[in-house]
Amino acid sequence: MLGQMMTKPLTISSLIDHAETYHGDAEIVSVETTGGTETTNWAGVAANARRLGSALTALELEPQARCATLAWNNRRHLEIYFGTSGAGFVCHTINPRLHPDQMSYIVDHAGDRVLFFDRTFLPLVAKLAPMLETVEHYVLMGPVDEEARKALPKVQSYDDLVASGDAGFAWPVLDENTASSLCYTSGTTGNPKGVLYSHRSTLLHAFGTALRDCIGFSAMDVVLPVVPMFHVNAWGAPYGCAMTGARMVLPGPDLSGEALVNLIEAHGVTLAMGVPTIWLGLLGHARKAGAKLESLERTVIGGSACPPSMIDEFRDTYGVDTIHAWGMSEMSPLGTTNQPLAKHRDLPVEEQRKLRENQGRPPFGVEMKIVGEDGADLPHDGETSGELMVRGHWVLESYFKRDDEGLLQDGWFATGDVASIDPDGYLTIRDRSKDIIKSGGEWISSVELESIAMAHPKLANAAVIGLPHPKWDERPVLVAVPAEGESPSEQEVRAFYDGKVASWQVPDRVLFVEAMPLGATGKVLKRELRDEHAGLLAG
Ligand code: AMP
Repeated sequence: MLGQMMTKPLTISSLIDHAETYHGDAEIVSVETTGGTETTNWAGVAANARRLGSALTALELEPQARCATLAWNNRRHLEIYFGTSGAGFVCHTINPRLHPDQMSYIVDHAGDRVLFFDRTFLPLVAKLAPMLETVEHYVLMGPVDEEARKALPKVQSYDDLVASGDAGFAWPVLDENTASSLCYTSGTTGNPKGVLYSHRSTLLHAFGTALRDCIGFSAMDVVLPVVPMFHVNAWGAPYGCAMTGARMVLPGPDLSGEALVNLIEAHGVTLAMGVPTIWLGLLGHARKAGAKLESLERTVIGGSACPPSMIDEFRDTYGVDTIHAWGMSEMSPLGTTNQPLAKHRDLPVEEQRKLRENQGRPPFGVEMKIVGEDGADLPHDGETSGELMVRGHWVLESYFKRDDEGLLQDGWFATGDVASIDPDGYLTIRDRSKDIIKSGGEWISSVELESIAMAHPKLANAAVIGLPHPKWDERPVLVAVPAEGESPSEQEVRAFYDGKVASWQVPDRVLFVEAMPLGATGKVLKRELRDEHAGLLAG
């Protein structure tokens, strides 16, 4: 033998061990579901995770048994992330905003054995319990009182379960390809599909996100993941923070602009992560309250396209750098982040800013290309649009318990997004393939039209949909929520597009609504809007 390096498996238990040993005193602030704030640290989270792992092992669950959660972002949820996976079980986070029928489908499909839940979801769990045939253990993440016992006689207390475990529990040695967590896609068409992550993919994703040109978690950071822990593992923040010893602020159930501004200011948050809808609320409140957001250095915004006007407001008013990110459940979720290159330094400021608007470039570990309808590769010239294909260390190969033969095309996963890629690898998402508007044989990007509308001072939110048209097949229609106290006219909003897009791309109509229909992950439900207004342009 020539000599060899060690082959230590990449496991989630090694992450929490590291956080405990080298960043044990780094604080984790947690807003509790029943009110109030608790403070623990990585050592405390690690000790409870081991106790939980030991208690779950004593329940004699089978290896890789699924343990589900219905919970907000809080410290118990963080302990469950590490305690379940570390002990060789699968942490299955359920999105509580799904329809109850979808939830019971998911629990049954996953074969969940344990269900951890926050107090908020007690009525829901009590209602669903008779349908959940696989679940044996119902664990309430907080004190169990008479009311809880009455609603759900089988309920156990999380704190008692953890107290029954052994803080000296030794994590089992696992193969790094063992499954560690499970997340179902939102399933806007058909039943939700499960994406099963492994210890290895999770660790490699954490390394990737921690790179400075990606998200760049650091021990100097106080990270506020507003993105829920039930949505693709809060974009991997718990793992990236454990890996780097970043401090965390877990916001609990109240994600209002006011609550978030208060958390940022009270706890010196440096890095916040979430979808654009959340930041609309935050910026709205910060403006009204005259908040300064002084500690905040960067926001990671993704999940749907971040309007350039939002990037501008964060930068110009608060001195906050926005990292626009793109990803999907099937990618753990991180695909790209927008960070500059050295060669951009000498460009005029306006050009540098423009370059920060798109969805960015992949870190090591992700590869991307675009293909035409015939599957042939298209050029990365920043202009040509095609279906975005990806592959990499943390990209899905097959869905959980599905016969997925033929899912990959030559080893690439088809994202369902229409995009262009420039010669430096910067990605611009033009649309979801089902949302792109086909007008007279030409394509119109709904994302582009939305970004323009979002910059209109009298609009708070905007969605552009394609509606059937007798002559052009489809034409764009803007559905918009006016800003507080404003009532813009259809004409002035349409005029706002002058000179910004070709005249044939300007939305035919503007419909004003009080609120957008939002899906389980905070994205606008365009299908609902299309169905509701289907006949508008019928002539
Ligand atoms: P999900 O699996 O629920 O996270 O949804 C993934 C989808 O969200 C992607 O395929 C995109 O269509 C969309 N998405 C995520 N991030 C962005 C972004 N920054 N810009 C535009 N679309 C995005």
